[in-house]
Amino acid sequence: MGSDWIEQFADAPDVLKTQPDQKTVVRAGDVAIGGREFVTMAGPCSVETERQLMETAGFVARAGARMLRGGAFKPRTSPYAFQGLGLDGLKLLAKARAATGLAIVTEVMTAADAPMVAEYADILQIGSRSMENYALLEAAARTGRPILLKRGMVASVADLMRSAQCVISYGNPNVILCERGIRTFETATRNTFDVAAIVVLKEIARLPVIADPSHAAGRRELVPALARSAVAAGADGQVVEVHPHPDEAWSDGEQSLTFAAFEAMMTDLAPWCELRAQRGCALETVA
Ligand code: PEP
Ligand code: MN
Repeated sequence: MGSDWIEQFADAPDVLKTQPDQKTVVRAGDVAIGGREFVTMAGPCSVETERQLMETAGFVARAGARMLRGGAFKPRTSPYAFQGLGLDGLKLLAKARAATGLAIVTEVMTAADAPMVAEYADILQIGSRSMENYALLEAAARTGRPILLKRGMVASVADLMRSAQCVISYGNPNVILCERGIRTFETATRNTFDVAAIVVLKEIARLPVIADPSHAAGRRELVPALARSAVAAGADGQVVEVHPHPDEAWSDGEQSLTFAAFEAMMTDLAPWCELRAQRGCALETVA
């Protein structure tokens, strides 16, 4: 590995590996992220109703998801769009966890909300739009909950690593990095899925790396192939949007998988995940 090249990541010393096989395994409930298993976190973009969440949680659990995702606080581009159920949404997530055993990942948007979200969630998600909100990073880190840190849509890999370094510097080493697509000139997808970022991060960072094929694709029919490419690139897991009736979803319906499509994707991914596990978690380490 060229030392000039690695220089650009020097601001994130606690993210960089100090030896090639160094890795952090992040634990939430009974789930280990960054170990042998490719972990799927699935659920709706937004928590909408009790019925929507419970149906989705039950289905994704049966289909092999290990965690439930769902936003109670939503960073929406339009002030007139649905902003999330807030505390009521957190309570529904906790109810879904009790019913299914799935650990919960949900977004926290403000520093003030961090302790409350941490009471209900197993992992706190920092959204793309918040990756450089340092007050939020500090408050989230200090709850002691693992942090799912999503790459900002105009953030470089080094920027993402600097934000992770901030979280670690506040005493919380349990950070999961997430590639969710970046802004480019391309309009065929909602964002450009930077699969190379997964490869780079797996090479140099000790933290688990997951993909979000849903926000990268923007269209549900593209999601399974992006998920497959994430496994092949060495990702440790994925976070994916699923909805019982995507066309009626209150947010991100176009990119949300139906139950049937989610089940088919999980079946399709199984042999790839098996290969990954056999090969010591990273396909590229095979000679
Ligand atoms: C989400 O996970 O629903 C979300 C808002 O993601 P991002 O921050 O990547 O846009
Ligand atoms: Mn979404």
